Amino acid sequence: MMRQYEALRRAYPGTLLLFRLGDFYELFGEDAVVASRVLDLVLTSRPVAKGRRVPMCGIPHHALESYLARLVEAGFRVAICEQVEDPKKARGLVRREVVRVVTPGTVTEEGLLPPRANVYVGAVVHGMGRWGLAFADLLTGEFRIAEFPDTNLVREEVARRGIREVLYPEGESPPTFPEPSPALTPYPTWRFDPETAHRALCEQFGVQGLEGFGCTEVPVATRAAGALVQYLRETQRSELRHLHRLQVEVLGQFLFLDGGAIRSLELLEPLWGRNREATLLGALDRTRTAMGGRLLRQWITTPLRDLDGIRKRLDATEELLSASARPRIREVLTRCADLERLVGRCGHGSAHPRDLVALGRTLREVATLRELVGGFRSTLLRDLAEDLDPHSELADRIERALVPDPPVTFRDGGLIRDGYDSDLDALRRAVQEAQDWIRNLEVRERERTGIKSLKVGYNKVFGYYIEVSRAYRDRVPPHYERRQTLVGAERYVTPEMKEREALILNARERMVEREQELFFGLREEVARHGPTLLRTARAMATLDVLTTLAEIAELYGYTRPEVVPEPVLEIRAGRHPVVERTLREERFVPNDLWMDAHRRIAIVTGPNFAGKSTYLRQAALIVILAQMGSFVPAEYARVGLVDRIFTRIGTADDIASGRSTFLVEMQEVANLLHNATPHSLVLLDEVGRGTATYDGLSIAWAVVEYLWKRKRARVLFATHYHELTELAERLPGVFNLNVMVREEQDRIVFLHRVAEGSSDRSYGIHVARLAGLPREVVARAEEILARLEGSGERKGVSPGLERRVEAIQTSLALGSLSPGVGWIPPDRDGAAEGGTRPRSRRRTIARQASIFHGEDPDP
Ligand code: ADP
Repeated sequence: MMRQYEALRRAYPGTLLLFRLGDFYELFGEDAVVASRVLDLVLTSRPVAKGRRVPMCGIPHHALESYLARLVEAGFRVAICEQVEDPKKARGLVRREVVRVVTPGTVTEEGLLPPRANVYVGAVVHGMGRWGLAFADLLTGEFRIAEFPDTNLVREEVARRGIREVLYPEGESPPTFPEPSPALTPYPTWRFDPETAHRALCEQFGVQGLEGFGCTEVPVATRAAGALVQYLRETQRSELRHLHRLQVEVLGQFLFLDGGAIRSLELLEPLWGRNREATLLGALDRTRTAMGGRLLRQWITTPLRDLDGIRKRLDATEELLSASARPRIREVLTRCADLERLVGRCGHGSAHPRDLVALGRTLREVATLRELVGGFRSTLLRDLAEDLDPHSELADRIERALVPDPPVTFRDGGLIRDGYDSDLDALRRAVQEAQDWIRNLEVRERERTGIKSLKVGYNKVFGYYIEVSRAYRDRVPPHYERRQTLVGAERYVTPEMKEREALILNARERMVEREQELFFGLREEVARHGPTLLRTARAMATLDVLTTLAEIAELYGYTRPEVVPEPVLEIRAGRHPVVERTLREERFVPNDLWMDAHRRIAIVTGPNFAGKSTYLRQAALIVILAQMGSFVPAEYARVGLVDRIFTRIGTADDIASGRSTFLVEMQEVANLLHNATPHSLVLLDEVGRGTATYDGLSIAWAVVEYLWKRKRARVLFATHYHELTELAERLPGVFNLNVMVREEQDRIVFLHRVAEGSSDRSYGIHVARLAGLPREVVARAEEILARLEGSGERKGVSPGLERRVEAIQTSLALGSLSPGVGWIPPDRDGAAEGGTRPRSRRRTIARQASIFHGEDPDP
């Protein structure tokens, strides 16, 4: 057995090998040492030769999933080796094979999958001066490829799609990915060879050439795709029939959002805390199916860029908004299972009887859906209705074949209905008859022998027996053979009885085999319908998302945006889709925005906490919503197509990752200055605040000038440098906005209303007061301010004051000053959070302090 183990061990390098031994998966040697540490298992050892023992640890087979989850989470690749024949029947050593290699990007276990997010595995390769990327979702069959002119773009794409594992040619260096970095898997270089890759793809898709998929345009990405297919077939040890096509993505087909933008606009995850509701996804996700949930997530991170596609979605949403069938459609969707993954499981060979039953039932719902969608006029909905194929024959067959509530596994039979298969029926009848015969035996024998207490029973050791109490022993007929003596009774068998018994046992075994055969046949049949079933599943997902968007539009009063090619952005009474729902006491104040060729760069000023950030993000979110084909939270919106949204918004990540905030800030600014185009939307929030005032101001100034002169992008620039408002007078196209506040005696009231023109005071001292600074400090600050303003120096913070602020910051970082009192935060977050978000503020400070001491920041 150890020899068998060693052979498998050698065949799967770079994995942890789980070796099935009866009820356990065992790990040996180095694997055992590693796994026992990661999984907290007891490490034992096993003798393998005289005087030699190897370390060993085991996992009970029924707990595989949870252990697997932890191993994969920890970044391991796990080869699962099963006993592939019945140990009872094996002559000699049981045959064992690796049935699957589980890697971070190829998990399929129900419990390991996020229901509402795709799990992607990808491959990258560099060639002809560009990067090719391919990525696939093993279960849903989604398979896309694209090429990128530079490393940055491929990196961003991997981050944006949330690809979990990336293959690259062994010996070459992969790009460094931003955190959370995917697992990197080196794969033999020859697998990426053009011919090898081409052949693998043709074989997978069952085609002669790949021209039909548009692969000729993207030869480098095609190499990546070929390698990926080989990897998947190898690790899954299955044909993966549902992976039947690929889609070539053309750069520029989508509104490009990089990882930074996705984070800082809080599209999927909140910047602070864990409240998923506080994200765009959270605000929109009323989808009824997991497939719809995944698709919505995709739509949010990859909004469209072609007018036609966007308008089609908007037309469909609009039609659904007033459709009386909508509630019915959504109700039906609620009853639908995850068809996409169920089909994938069939193609992958891991579907259970219950999966097929769920699939059959869902197909019945598809028939209803198709009827409900039948009467619509918009192109997209009409196409959907086409695609919703109830596969009636297949559904009938599943229904005829499987009992409505089958057991979890197919190993013990009991899943196929009577009347489905004549062989199975014959076996069942034979068993039934034999059982009846035995059941009647008791009555017959009592009569025949006159022994009233005669009983027929069954136990595992002896099988069927006749039990007679000792008192009647002498009445027992001679052909009874005695098998067992108990206190006060004897047990017998008869040849006839044993014959029936053998028949039952034998027939039962054959029944189980036959049921498995039938089940596999059925699963195979579903896999054969993979392509059309997946099309149906995608139509359901799309219908789910479109009805969700219609529902949100109705509930929250969204309107249809006008999407146009020219670079404008007009929003009347726009709202922030997330903030407007999280406000408790206050009401959200809607605001306008008007940008066009003559108004391209908005300098937004106003005191901390006035609502600048919210205003900036709201503009970006409205653009994203519009381009994903959704209605938007505004009275009216006219959105000129955007090719990319750049953001420079300070985030918690900068601090958590321990990188210098200012350096990160400048890197992001450099990126956007290089890559923005006249169709981009750029959000800059307080650029330059990470350095000394004059430095920061000068950089901010130069950045605006550069964007104005060279990029001609639409820019929203929030700043507390009032000096920047002067730019509006110098550069045509630059204009000022300010978020208004009202002064009431010694306090300020935030109106959250955005007005044209610049605000003339920074209100820093007011905010400092709100934050609870000692009165003495506030009074002194007012005095200094008055003196500075009087002396004709620039408004705002003087270099002297700034040095003091820095000194306070340093002592905070050193822990010599307790946070929360007596500190003037130089930045807007500080002031704001000191007053109303003390918890997060304290966390930030704690982080700063611990980083300073070289400790791990709290995760
Ligand atoms: P700034 O960037 O100017 O410091 P924020 O955009 O962070 O300000 O806004 C601070 C807070 O003010 C937000 O968390 C929100 O609660 C509230 N707020 C912002 N804009 C509005 C608005 N238009 N209507 C109502 N409340 C708002």
